[in-house]
Amino acid sequence: MTDQRVFALIPPVDTILKQPSLQQTIAALGREPVKLAIRAEVDILRRAMASAAAEYLSLSREVVAERVAEAAVTRIGLEFKPLFRPVFNLTGTVIHTNLGRSRLPDSAIAAMAIAAGEAVDLEYNLETGKRGDRDSHLEALICELTGAEAATVVNNNAAAVVLLLNTLALGQEVIISRGELVEIGGAFRIPDVMESAGAKLREVGTTNRTHARDFEAALSPQTALVMKVHASNYEIRGFTSAVPEAELAAIAHGANIPFVSDLGSGCLVDMARFGLPPEPTVRATVEAGADLVTFSGDKLLGGPQSGIIVGRADLIKRIKENPLKRALRVDKTVLAGLLSVLQLYRDPESLPQRLPLLADLTRSVDDIEKAVQRVLPVVREAVGEEFVTDGLDCKSQIGSGALPLELMPSRAIAISLRSGQSDAALTELAATLRALPKPIIGRLSDGSLILDLRCLRDEQGFCEQLRSL
Ligand SMILES: *Cc1c(COP(=O)(O)O)cnc(C)c1O
Repeated sequence: MTDQRVFALIPPVDTILKQPSLQQTIAALGREPVKLAIRAEVDILRRAMASAAAEYLSLSREVVAERVAEAAVTRIGLEFKPLFRPVFNLTGTVIHTNLGRSRLPDSAIAAMAIAAGEAVDLEYNLETGKRGDRDSHLEALICELTGAEAATVVNNNAAAVVLLLNTLALGQEVIISRGELVEIGGAFRIPDVMESAGAKLREVGTTNRTHARDFEAALSPQTALVMKVHASNYEIRGFTSAVPEAELAAIAHGANIPFVSDLGSGCLVDMARFGLPPEPTVRATVEAGADLVTFSGDKLLGGPQSGIIVGRADLIKRIKENPLKRALRVDKTVLAGLLSVLQLYRDPESLPQRLPLLADLTRSVDDIEKAVQRVLPVVREAVGEEFVTDGLDCKSQIGSGALPLELMPSRAIAISLRSGQSDAALTELAATLRALPKPIIGRLSDGSLILDLRCLRDEQGFCEQLRSL
């Protein structure tokens, strides 16, 4: 039988609200969420009292109030924690889609913060005082960097492809090689995208070989477009043949229809100049005769999530007039960040210093090895004698489907099992590192946890995390 007197120890919610320890939280978040948290904690306390009244009877009302207040502060801290946790990306995949792709340069972050915090001339022409166009801020620069006539920006490259197809091929056929019916992570499959955009897929050729005559034979009055999709995340090797872009453009133009190319991770400069594997540039694709080119703003370009469509002015105009454009448009912060990143491309030479993505991609093995030497003792100490911890040659990959077979030599710290130890110890260690306040994310491979240090920039923060283990 619960001693009913114990419940009288719980002060009313409004009294608990006056506890000094709650005032900071109330000032920051308002009274209502704090009240809810207090009620939730009072319920928990009532249940605890009902089952063990004796433990509480000696407490004062003041102490009970303070305990509830403290529990409410903890509860609210959990409820109001920021959406995202910053993590150390030591997976060896530089553009990691699940980890938010690229880190942005400080200039872009500053531009995004201004756009977020103020009213801006997003769609307002300051000269005329009339309505403006949100794309106008970037269009000239995108055209300068790609050689295209016109450009528009949408939510991501997937949106760019959907919008393009829906505008130019609704209810009509799009000819595409069977070798390019790709699936990109996250259920983006070209055949499904076609269908949802309202276009009819007309596949030609075979998986490994497609010829000009295949495209020519497929042309009909129903054909709206000839399309090429960059095989971003796989490669067909061996007995293969694909039709070069210039030839596809000629075939399409011979039939009076546009040739469009989805580059996926389009590059604005030749990556080979930085010692990276070559990727087709947007400019080269435009020069080869593509009437429209779509590419991502946050793959190799290194900007915020966005998709860019460039090409013929008349086609871009039609795309912008499609009501779907409104549904797929980007917000002011993204436009501000993207413009800021694009501005860096005006001086390609300094890109590796100024664009974090390129800094990571072009980081030398020597430099990464120095990082390994600096942090290795700390890692060793933190994980303990249970494991063998050592430097290791490894390969990083660009990620996001870009150049999947081109791996960049890198250096890692490998944490391996001592012989006879069970794999569980390693998965447990990986889980422990993921549970740190700033999680450390590596990759498990062949009985080792590999921490590729290519993307480690905050060594001090990393060591602090490990020391807290
Ligand atoms: C990545 C990719 C897409 C999708 O781009 P998102 O910006 O991720 O939406 C579309 N097409 C190709 C060829 C890609 O590689």
